[in-house]
Amino acid sequence: MITRHFGIPVTSPGAILRRERDLGTPLGQETAEVLRSGGLVSDKIIIELIEDWLRLHGGHGFVFDGFPRTLPQAESLMSMLTKLRTALDLVIWLEASEKTVRDRITGRLQCGECGFTTSSSSAQFANRPVCPYCDGRLERRNDDDLGVLQTRLQEFRTKTEPLGAFYKKVSVLHRIDGNRDRDAVFSEISRLIEDKTPK
Ligand SMILES: [Zn+2]
Repeated sequence: MITRHFGIPVTSPGAILRRERDLGTPLGQETAEVLRSGGLVSDKIIIELIEDWLRLHGGHGFVFDGFPRTLPQAESLMSMLTKLRTALDLVIWLEASEKTVRDRITGRLQCGECGFTTSSSSAQFANRPVCPYCDGRLERRNDDDLGVLQTRLQEFRTKTEPLGAFYKKVSVLHRIDGNRDRDAVFSEISRLIEDKTPK
């Protein structure tokens, strides 16, 4: 939605790694098991992915979704940005209850080709699970089983939660209530991005 609305490239380590896995690359195979079990892929691998991506696509603004997730990742991002002489404009923290996360995970459909994500409760896709952008098949992600949710929540509490304090110090942090519907969340995020965009 952000790419379509603002023309800013968005990437997430999860999307990159799922593509690597589907292509059967050594990196994809190495990380597939970690993704499946709900764990976090090592900081070293994630940081390398982001560095490569920034080198190729980072010239005119970017959004990371699901990065950084740990303190070492956040510190590496700071030094990458210093090297690129780029400032971090905004950190958005989407707060969601465990129930919201559980409901979203069980109801999520994703295009195997382009990564488009929607909800299985969306009537449009209930009978014909085909991607509106590339005609790929919409499927449940196999790392989305509820069994792995507990592992993820545990990883979140121990490794990701401390980022709140880290980014509060550099005063770019905005906490947003993620328990609302997609449009409400998107319009709040849009307002934050518009405030940061030179007119
Ligand atoms: Zn697609």
